[in-house]
Amino acid sequence: MRIAVLSDIHSNLPALEAVLAAAGDVDAVWHLGDVGGYGPEPDAVVDRLRSIGAVGVRGNHDAAAIGGAEIEWFNPDARRAIEWTMTAISAATRAWLAELPERRTLEGSTLVHGSPREPIWEYLTSLPVARANLALMEERIGLHGHTHIPVAWVEDDGRVAVVSPSDGSELSLRGRRALVNPGSVGQPRDGDPAASFMIFEPELDRVTWWRVEYDIEAVQDAMREAGLPPSLSARLSVGL
Ligand code: ZN
Repeated sequence: MRIAVLSDIHSNLPALEAVLAAAGDVDAVWHLGDVGGYGPEPDAVVDRLRSIGAVGVRGNHDAAAIGGAEIEWFNPDARRAIEWTMTAISAATRAWLAELPERRTLEGSTLVHGSPREPIWEYLTSLPVARANLALMEERIGLHGHTHIPVAWVEDDGRVAVVSPSDGSELSLRGRRALVNPGSVGQPRDGDPAASFMIFEPELDRVTWWRVEYDIEAVQDAMREAGLPPSLSARLSVGL
């Protein structure tokens, strides 16, 4: 079984299309939340995910886009983008976002946006946080997003090691417990502007990360037209 794992698409349709094309023939598409927010095409992104039967979980931007109190925690530009999203999305998109659960278990893996212990908000960015989450995780593998940085936290003999993947990096888990982040499709923040995603093969106990170039200028034009904050559009060029 080959599963495309996507996270933090953030209403970026060209990036989503590029990633789906690169993933090729897959048995399933899983997403780890933040389908909306920041970008200019929330309805088109949700329509595309719905049309391919993608399943996933709710991110902090998804929760805010449907009127959640999460918006109170956003910085000014993220907040402006969410306020725009709230007025731009259709009733069908709102309903689809509202049905996303905070966590899901699929093929023996836990899917969350932030972390297993705080699915919406916690940023998994340090060893102590990874260790604490690995300790309480019921499933062996946790798939998470939220930081927009591809990474894996792998438990080995009681120690936790960090894996920082690049394009084409493959990680065999060999029965180890791990938290794995595919990086962001629609707004990468690791200095590489190319869209990031992962292929998960549960039977082989293996994940592979991939980077895909896409038409960044097309998204930036659409953001300008929508009146979204220029800083959000500029960061796409540098992947930060
Ligand atoms: Zn995000």
